[in-house]
Amino acid sequence: MSKTALKASIIATSSNCHGCATVAAVCQHGYLMNDTDYMRAALDMASRALAAGEVPVGAVVVMSGEIIGRGFNAPISRHDPTAHAEMSALRDAARHRGNYRLVDCELFVTLEPCLMCAGAVMHARIARLVYGASDPKTGACGSVVDAFAEKLLNHHTEVTSGVLAEQCGAILSDFFAERRAEQKKGRGNV
Ligand SMILES: [Zn+2]
Repeated sequence: MSKTALKASIIATSSNCHGCATVAAVCQHGYLMNDTDYMRAALDMASRALAAGEVPVGAVVVMSGEIIGRGFNAPISRHDPTAHAEMSALRDAARHRGNYRLVDCELFVTLEPCLMCAGAVMHARIARLVYGASDPKTGACGSVVDAFAEKLLNHHTEVTSGVLAEQCGAILSDFFAERRAEQKKGRGNV
């Protein structure tokens, strides 16, 4: 997707300023981006994963209100078990900053991070993690384990959950429902 198309899709699904397609903290019309706007940007990345046939999870990294890193889930196409949305967004942001330490940055992700991504968030010194839907199977922010509650491990990151949880969960449940239907159809043809 081109940059213009990305901005257009963000603006199309966003409640932010409709006068421009800003992804900055404050647009030229004075609209201040909030958690919901950034989660919509993460959802937009999830839709890219969906288009690629991957489990639809997306993430963005925000510094001083500006999106500096983007990523979507792509372990199948990249042949990489670490290619989760959060890892890609963190790598993108660290490249942008020229520093693996992303202090004062926030990570927005559509699904509760797994243990690997929770570890990466801590190594990156992310100040705040915001996620949408909970993951009862691999969630490491309270659903299965809570890595961030371990004070000996976590010195940096504040966690906020449930932002656009319904939309973030719906894109996943639709994906899995469709996949189950396709598998059933496949079995029917045998
Ligand atoms: Zn992960």
